[in-house]
Amino acid sequence: MKQLNFSIVNESDTVDFGKRLASVLKKGDVVGLSGDLGAGKTFLSHAICRALGVPESQPVNSPTFTIINEYHCSRFPVYHMDLYRLGEPDELYDLGIWEYYDGDGICIVEWFDKFDDLWPEEALMIRIHLEDGEKRTFEIRGVGRGKEILDSL
Ligand code: ADP
Ligand code: MG
Repeated sequence: MKQLNFSIVNESDTVDFGKRLASVLKKGDVVGLSGDLGAGKTFLSHAICRALGVPESQPVNSPTFTIINEYHCSRFPVYHMDLYRLGEPDELYDLGIWEYYDGDGICIVEWFDKFDDLWPEEALMIRIHLEDGEKRTFEIRGVGRGKEILDSL
């Protein structure tokens, strides 16, 4: 599996990265985010959504309690999920996660790796390592369509 590392120095680098990623995303893509609390998963999700064209009138914030937030840009729906509070793999099925993964929207999934054998077949995976202060490393891997996205980053 191919892997790329991006060094992120500050929030504006994260915003730029979000723009770069958004410019290559297509309908049906799944972006999984992992990393400790405070690593910047929600911040990056926000950057990607704004770059995709989700208007300011739709707040992009942490779906920790709602599990799924749904936004709309002109091209497709964007599903922003957070699996942190889910306890059992069954809850993923109850949520209908596979319909989202296989659907026409873009899925951005925080705590993507919580259930490590229940991943979609094709996805881009970004693990955020918090260095110090605002510094981060984004470790990125891709499978299937995710690899294509990675190649075009
Ligand atoms: P998570 O969703 O991973 O728990 P959040 O995105 O909610 O984390 O919080 C990350 C915090 O770190 C935000 O308050 C954000 O402003 C701050 N931050 C500082 N530097 C960066 C950076 N380079 N990228 C993303 N967030 C950053
Ligand atoms: Mg979060």
